[in-house]
Amino acid sequence: MQILDGKIVSQITKDKIQEEVASLIQQGFRAPHLVAVIVGNDGASETYVASKEKNSKKVGMDSTVIRLPENVSETELLAEIKKLNDDDNIDGILVQLPLPKHIDSQKVIEFIDPLKDVDGFHPINVGLMCKGLPTLLPATPYGILLLLEHYKINTSGMHCVVIGRSDIVGKPMSILMSRNEQPGNCTVTLCHSKTKDLASFTKQADIVIAALGKPMNITAEMIKEGAIVIDVGITRVNDDSAKGYSIKGDVDFDAVAPKTSFITPVPGGVGAMTIAGVIQNTLNAYKNNYLKR
Ligand code: NAD
Repeated sequence: MQILDGKIVSQITKDKIQEEVASLIQQGFRAPHLVAVIVGNDGASETYVASKEKNSKKVGMDSTVIRLPENVSETELLAEIKKLNDDDNIDGILVQLPLPKHIDSQKVIEFIDPLKDVDGFHPINVGLMCKGLPTLLPATPYGILLLLEHYKINTSGMHCVVIGRSDIVGKPMSILMSRNEQPGNCTVTLCHSKTKDLASFTKQADIVIAALGKPMNITAEMIKEGAIVIDVGITRVNDDSAKGYSIKGDVDFDAVAPKTSFITPVPGGVGAMTIAGVIQNTLNAYKNNYLKR
């Protein structure tokens, strides 16, 4: 069993980006600029945005966080996004989800300039991804591809079972694993909450990508000997520790890991790679837009 170490691969990815950014600045170009918009005071959202801000600054990018109050209107939020869309000095925009209930998230996603959509959620980018054309990929699936690439795992011909069909993880992951590219070329089964007998599918899988958001749900009996297991789940589970909680994945790591050929830990797996995906997308957006202008 080998750990797919998201922390290390994320660092390697960011180091390469840092070198490239330094070289571009040395050549007289401005730094890439990422802007994150956060609405309200959700603790988890604050943590994710702080991490994106810290990491983009570390690689030499400009990073701005726009904080809007919980009661900001949809019109005001869209007006803020319009300013960012129109600003040639901004390359990447991300609006941290979830948004308060009075704001239509889909409308907001569709309002972001697709060329600056570093989360890869805009329908235009999703369409380009489905057709296998170059685009900004959703950050978490992109991070998983970078991880598989780093460990030179040849996924061609494998049976990949993706659990979860969300727009941000499961659905795009299933599309990317079936594309005619490496990583990819898998036979993909997409399972979800209405799937009958989930274990009958996971037991056949060469790769399991778990994104159901239910801690420790994937048990050793559900996994084939030698399978590759990617755990996307992040759930805070209350416990007696000083913090009062710990972070759990969707996979019962201790029981499952000995059966696998490769497995991601939680934390230190996919979460770290998602950040790398966002930062890489920002550089990609900068190169496609600013550098080509
Ligand atoms: P979601 O709640 O939008 O989707 C969950 C999916 O799981 C749904 O499609 C549902 O049909 C499916 N599902 C639920 N119960 C199931 C079951 N028993 N069997 C089969 N399928 C089932 O979640 P999401 O946004 O895709 O996130 C999933 C998990 O990944 C969450 O824990 C989330 O916090 C985490 N996440 C992690 C990262 C990261 O960077 N590591 C990024 C995004 C999401």
